[in-house]
Amino acid sequence: MRRLVVIVYLVELFFLFLMWNMYSYLIHRFSHIHFKGNILMWIHMAHHQVEYVKDNDNNGFVLPHWSQYLFWFGTFRESLDVWISVAPLVPLMIFKPEFGIPIFILVYIYESTISEHLLDHNPRITDKKLTKFFAWGQYHLVHHHFYKKNYAFIFTLWDSVFNTSKNKAQPGPIVKERLVFGIRN
Ligand SMILES: [Zn+2]
Ligand SMILES: [Zn+2]
Repeated sequence: MRRLVVIVYLVELFFLFLMWNMYSYLIHRFSHIHFKGNILMWIHMAHHQVEYVKDNDNNGFVLPHWSQYLFWFGTFRESLDVWISVAPLVPLMIFKPEFGIPIFILVYIYESTISEHLLDHNPRITDKKLTKFFAWGQYHLVHHHFYKKNYAFIFTLWDSVFNTSKNKAQPGPIVKERLVFGIRN
């Protein structure tokens, strides 16, 4: 009986995590829809102005800046971009803390320490078998060149479900969207 309770809890925990993961996918996708007044696009643009790969030497083992532990990611817009993706976890923590707190801890550790250089923007993660399931390294870096692909965060699942996955491509410049987003070269 007790084992069943644990299994039901873990299934529900995983389900809620996937729901949050889908929300972060949808918000990211919406942030790339070009229309006047899309404030999410304006916020998310800051993420696309960072030259991650250029900064990424030392095999991706770049220590996070101390402010990232306080969920501050360099500028207001970059921080807001993360806060928006994490926002639904706040009511979940209040109303269902048994689920909200463990998911928040996981996301907090991921965002504040390993996301930026070690996983998401590490060009040395090239194994297609790995990036079939995890939105890391080359998989996410492809998104920095093909803005209509690879929106997923942590797992590639929602890109696969919504048919926006581009796992086979190598990152390379697409000039048009690059200009629309005002990316520096
Ligand atoms: Zn993006
Ligand atoms: Zn990125």
